[in-house]
Amino acid sequence: MGYIIEPADQTWLIAFVNEYATAAWAARGSVESYADVADLGAVPPMAPSLPFRSLAAVADCVFDVVVAGSAEARAEALNRLISPAAPQVSVVLLDELTSVVLSASSDKADLLALSCGLAMAELVEDVGAARMGTCDATKCDRIYIDRSPKGSRAYCSQQCQTRSRVARHRAKQRLAADAINEAA
Ligand SMILES: [Zn+2]
Repeated sequence: MGYIIEPADQTWLIAFVNEYATAAWAARGSVESYADVADLGAVPPMAPSLPFRSLAAVADCVFDVVVAGSAEARAEALNRLISPAAPQVSVVLLDELTSVVLSASSDKADLLALSCGLAMAELVEDVGAARMGTCDATKCDRIYIDRSPKGSRAYCSQQCQTRSRVARHRAKQRLAADAINEAA
């Protein structure tokens, strides 16, 4: 039997994607300034020893689940995360109690992908794909999970929401000023 796998912590997973996915650091303009995976919350045990490139590849695959344009594309992206580790279901004794566990023997990047894939599959089931998205703010491609009662979230953070509101307000003021100038 290989490693026993559990779904990644959802809060950690979103923070991880927003640090390591290509879209996230492309928007940030730098690959240099990402946070350590262990500083993002409840880190999966296999993540800290992985190199940046492996982490970014897993994060990109999770990002693909969020931005998938159809249920088929989403299922495909989830399978890309889950299948490389070739998971197996078995019954083991944990503290003298029998438990059904998912295990896999593979490299750590595949195991992390599996753990992230299970967490994303749970999220898709729990909150629904319509409640996942990327930030509406310009120059931001961070992902969010919308847990608001109305399902009206459009930004990754309060900062992006404020920044966009200010930009919209200024654009409106400019339009009004232009209209006055044209009338004069
Ligand atoms: Zn944002």
